[in-house]
Amino acid sequence: MAKRELIGDSEEVRAAIADLRDKVDTQDYPEETWREEDIAVKNFSDRITDTVRLDEVADALAEQEESLRQQREMDAALAEERRLAREQYRRDRVRKLSAPEEAPVAPAPKEKRFGKRRKQEDEYIISLSGVSKSYVKGVPALNDVNIRIKPGEFVFIVGDSGSGKSTLIRLLLRELKPTTGTIRVNGFQVEKLRRGKIPKLRRSMGVVFQDFRLLKDRNVYENVAFAQRIIQVPSREMKRNVPNILAMVGLAGKYKAHPNELSGGEQQRVALARALVNKPPILLADEPTGNLDPKNTIEIMKLLERINQNGTTVLVVTHNDKIVNDMQKRVITIKKGVVVSDEEMGGYIDED
Ligand code: ADP
Ligand code: MG
Repeated sequence: MAKRELIGDSEEVRAAIADLRDKVDTQDYPEETWREEDIAVKNFSDRITDTVRLDEVADALAEQEESLRQQREMDAALAEERRLAREQYRRDRVRKLSAPEEAPVAPAPKEKRFGKRRKQEDEYIISLSGVSKSYVKGVPALNDVNIRIKPGEFVFIVGDSGSGKSTLIRLLLRELKPTTGTIRVNGFQVEKLRRGKIPKLRRSMGVVFQDFRLLKDRNVYENVAFAQRIIQVPSREMKRNVPNILAMVGLAGKYKAHPNELSGGEQQRVALARALVNKPPILLADEPTGNLDPKNTIEIMKLLERINQNGTTVLVVTHNDKIVNDMQKRVITIKKGVVVSDEEMGGYIDED
């Protein structure tokens, strides 16, 4: 459809947009023309006036193009950074492996030791060192927390209400800054990050919450697609990614449903699909089964396990002791802001 066809009196415009929306939702619009139309719909559905002017359409399209271009440039720069870092890492490893073991170890100069220490830290996708957080002076919500998590791990964080679990999650996301200590997530030095880099950090992590936090007035497809729109994924890719991830969480058949037409378990699956559609290396789940019945709880946990098996590092905050005991994963227990145990294949500590 030509852009020009969007121009006309209000009836025509509204009908055309409603028609396009429908086709976008049902995904049966021809792919070649989809993106341009989608942009037009996106820009105009919110502000339909009696006449839509052609130059406005052109401006909006140009603006969109420009931000897509900038995004691509940024992505390319980031990819290049990553490539260089990988090369450096390989070079360092070769050097380390080829060093004769018997050779007397000379004390390394200070800078080198520092370099080495930093590299060791990067074995971990998440690390907290001496992290404390006080909302109010003198009453720490977290107190000298040291946690290291390797890529691909599945970790439960357990503890009573008020023990500091959500504070921990918010520190990782840089919604809060620690009072003391250092936090690294996916190579980012979190507490030192400049404001402009925070979105990049957050793209490392998909997040789900107890209360799902879906957009009530959007259907399942749009709730998930929304995460892709924010980072300006081209529509063509989005049209592949969204159905794929919905199939992964077992909701392919419900993409048109609205949140209020879904069970709690289904809503949490939508939230999971939204958290994962941009393929973050880390998934954070804060009490993801807090509002679910036992059957749905088990299903969500199975899904989390499968997500982990596909390579995502998974961090689950919960106080469901039965699930924790059944799953036999690493369990970190927090009590009044202090890590009191950290066990491989652990269980829930019940002291009462
Ligand atoms: P959990 O998630 O384990 O229930 P939280 O991390 O939410 O625990 O809270 C830890 C402690 O910090 C609690 O004592 C809580 O009252 C306090 N707290 C949490 N958020 C805030 C805040 N925004 N302002 C002040 N105190 C807070
Ligand atoms: Mg909490």
